[in-house]
Amino acid sequence: MNNYQEALTEAARFMKAHDRFLIVSHVNPDGDTTSSALATALLLEQAGKSYVIVNEGETPSKFGFLPRFERILNLSADSLEERFDAVIAVDAADARRMGEVRHLFAPNARILNIDHHPTNDFFGTVNVIRTDAAATAEIMFEVMEAGGFACTPELATCLYTGLLTDTGGFRYSNTTSHVMEIAAKLLRCGVKPGEIAERCLEEITLKHVQVLRRALQSLKLTHRNQVASLKISHADLCETGATSEDASGLVNYGRNIEGVEVGISFCEPEPGVVKVSFRARAHVDVAQIAKSFGGGGHAKAAGCTLKGELAAIEEQVLAKLSEVLGVGVHE
Ligand code: 5GP
Ligand code: MN
Repeated sequence: MNNYQEALTEAARFMKAHDRFLIVSHVNPDGDTTSSALATALLLEQAGKSYVIVNEGETPSKFGFLPRFERILNLSADSLEERFDAVIAVDAADARRMGEVRHLFAPNARILNIDHHPTNDFFGTVNVIRTDAAATAEIMFEVMEAGGFACTPELATCLYTGLLTDTGGFRYSNTTSHVMEIAAKLLRCGVKPGEIAERCLEEITLKHVQVLRRALQSLKLTHRNQVASLKISHADLCETGATSEDASGLVNYGRNIEGVEVGISFCEPEPGVVKVSFRARAHVDVAQIAKSFGGGGHAKAAGCTLKGELAAIEEQVLAKLSEVLGVGVHE
């Protein structure tokens, strides 16, 4: 057996070896981390275990259709006194990505770290990392198989949602034949693909469109039109009543422009805090760029959060792009 197979078996053993678990999804949760957390919950239920699922903040309501969604505790709104001996982190590249959750860990807590980010730093006691997996949900599928768990329609719905969202609807280059084989198996387990795609990919909020209108007005092409950036200030969010959830996905409008190599969005969820998202088309490794600012992610989709003034952060990030592309900002 190779190391990865051993890690999968070890993960399934971890789930069976403890009685009560803390499941943690990453900050600014997306479809993959949320689905993987809920899939973990369903696996633990099959094993007769109990659990609490937490996120540092709020989980987007668009994922409200997922089974056990209502069990996710928002730590910014609810406190939790309990301390946990067994922790499972999903889709978190490093301990910081779990957010402010450390106080929930008992001293000597054992952590199972399941992830697919190349920037993962193996922070767990047990680490199941496969960086060529399209989604953490893909690894969760393999944990399910390695542990001999049943693929119920609920579990399949979670796993399919993680695969669908992290491959951009089976369009990104991480869409391998293995991903499609797993997706086919999940359909046989009862997934309704049309309904999930509608909820995750098609439906948008009116506030998303209102904030998009402002973001497009800020569109800037720089670096010989190789970089397209958009800005959403705190005032834009306040004046439209949009949340950062409504603003998600805007980065793609820049990246999708013909000839653009890197799309960037700068979103200011609160004054002095800027969430930067990077999307690359082909040649640029944006994970390395995000990492140089304390963030991380994948070669073609990465991000970081910086403190400071929006205009100053924009300048700093565009200067970094000049360094990487070897082209001046206004060339
Ligand atoms: P997004 O721009 O959609 O928030 O994130 C794109 C990708 O980058 C996701 O895989 C996400 O997990 C990762 N990412 C975003 N922000 C950070 C960050 O601050 N640190 C790390 N390590 N990864 C991030
Ligand atoms: Mn992921």
